[in-house]
Amino acid sequence: MSEHKNEVKLEDIVSLAKRRGFIYPGSDVYGGLAGTWDYGPLGVSLKRNIMNLWWQMFVDGRDDMYGVDAAILMNQKVWQASGHVDTFTDPLVECNTCHARHRADKLDDANKCPNCGQTGTFGEAKQFNMMFKTNVGPVDDENSVSYLRPETAQGIFTNFKNVVDSFYPDVPFGIGQQGKAFRNEISPRDFVFRSREFEQMEIEYFVKEENWEAEFEKWVELCKQWFTALGLPESSVHELEVPEEDRAHYSKRTIDFEFDYPIGREELMGLAYRTDFDLKNIERVSKKSMEYRPKDGSDSYVPHVIEPSFGVERALMAVLVSAYREDEQNGEKRIFLALPYDLAPIKVAVCPLAKNNEALVAKARDIYAMLKEQVGDVLWIDSGNIGKNYRKMDEIGVPYVVTVDFETLEGDQKDTVTLRHRDTTNQERVELSNLISESKKR
Ligand code: ATP
Repeated sequence: MSEHKNEVKLEDIVSLAKRRGFIYPGSDVYGGLAGTWDYGPLGVSLKRNIMNLWWQMFVDGRDDMYGVDAAILMNQKVWQASGHVDTFTDPLVECNTCHARHRADKLDDANKCPNCGQTGTFGEAKQFNMMFKTNVGPVDDENSVSYLRPETAQGIFTNFKNVVDSFYPDVPFGIGQQGKAFRNEISPRDFVFRSREFEQMEIEYFVKEENWEAEFEKWVELCKQWFTALGLPESSVHELEVPEEDRAHYSKRTIDFEFDYPIGREELMGLAYRTDFDLKNIERVSKKSMEYRPKDGSDSYVPHVIEPSFGVERALMAVLVSAYREDEQNGEKRIFLALPYDLAPIKVAVCPLAKNNEALVAKARDIYAMLKEQVGDVLWIDSGNIGKNYRKMDEIGVPYVVTVDFETLEGDQKDTVTLRHRDTTNQERVELSNLISESKKR
C-alpha cells in the first residue's frame, strides 16, 4: 500500500458529496448496489464540466482530433479480437472459512482474509473475467452474447477506418471518445475510485511507428497540462514508469499517472504505447484492411497507437481532494471547495439581503436574470442569514456571491453590489456595469 500524503480524509469528501448533492450511493433507498453511484444536481454539473473541459482541450480545441460516440453494446467479436474475452481478468481468491471473495493482488496481507481475519484460508487464485455478459435480442444462445463495454477504446478502434474514409486526416491524428464503461470489479471500494460502472475519456492517437517515442513524450506533457487545468497540485501527481513485467504484453511503454488520494497513491490515469496491436487484431478477425494510405503515394501501413486513458471518476475524486479546504473565519471552522472556475458547478450565487422587501427582491431578480444569461451557472439564494448562505456556497465551491442590499437601490452606492470571493472571503463593492466581467474572472 502506498503512503498516505493528503491530509483530507476520504470520509470528509464522501460526506460532503452526499450532504451537498454531488454524489449519492446508487440505489440507496433499496440498500444500495455495490460499486454504483448516482450523481446529484451538483455532481452532474461538476462531472460534465470536467468532461467538457477535456473535450475542449483534446478534441474541439485541436485540428488533429476527431470525436466519436460508439454504442456501448458491441459485436462479441470486438472483445474476442481484443483479447478481453480471454484475458480481461483479475485474480480471485475465496476464503474457505467465511467464503468472502477478494481480489488477490489488492490484499494488504496475501494470506489473511480481510473479512473474517483468518489466515491461510485462501485456495488457489482463479482468473475472474470482469466483463458483464448479456444477450442481445430474444434468443439466449452463444451467438447473441454481448458485453457491456469494459473500456471505450474498442469503440474507437472499430471506427478507425470509418473516420479515415470520411475525413482522410493526415497521420498523426487522434480519435477521442467519452462514455460509460463497466467492470464487474471483485472488490469495488474507496468511493467512486473503483466502481463497477464509471466513465472514461479515451484517445487513440495514430502515429507512424518510427515517431512513437516523440509523440509519447508530447502526450506526457499534455497529460500534465490537463492535471493543472483540474487544479491538481503538481506535488500530488506522480509518474510511474510501468516495468515490462507489469505491462500489457502488447505495450512497449506505459506510464501510470498516480495521485495522492486519501486512500494512498493510486492510479489516476494511464498512458500507453499500444503498438499496432489493436488494429492488427481487427484485421485478423474481420479480414478487413486497416492500412492507411499516405497522401504522398508512399507505402500503406497500419498506424501505431498512443493511448491516453482518463477515468472521469478518478479525475473528479482528485479534483475534490485538491479543492477541499478547511480554515477558520471569525473563530469558526469553515469548509470550502477551491474548485477551478471552469469546473465549479455554480459560478455565482445571487442573494437579496432582505427577502420581504419587494423593490430589493425585484432588483436582485433582475441582476440574477442578467447573470444567468451572461454567466450561465447562477444560483438564487434567499434563505437563512447571509453568513449561513456564504458557508453553504463555500462548501459547494461557488467562486462568487453577489449580495444585493438597500444601497444597491438608492444613494451614492446605487447600482453597486457586494461581491464576495470564496477563497479569501474578501468582499468588495462592484458597479453593476462591471459585475459580468468581475464574476467571469477565473
Ligand atoms: P486499476 O489497476 O486501478 O484497476 P486499470 O489499470 O485496470 O486500473 P485501465 O484499464 O488502464 O485501468 O483503465 C483506464 C482508466 O480508467 C484508469 O486509469 C482509471 O482512471 C479508470 N478506471 C479503470 N477502472 C476503474 C474503476 N473500476 N472505477 C473507476 N475508474 C476506473
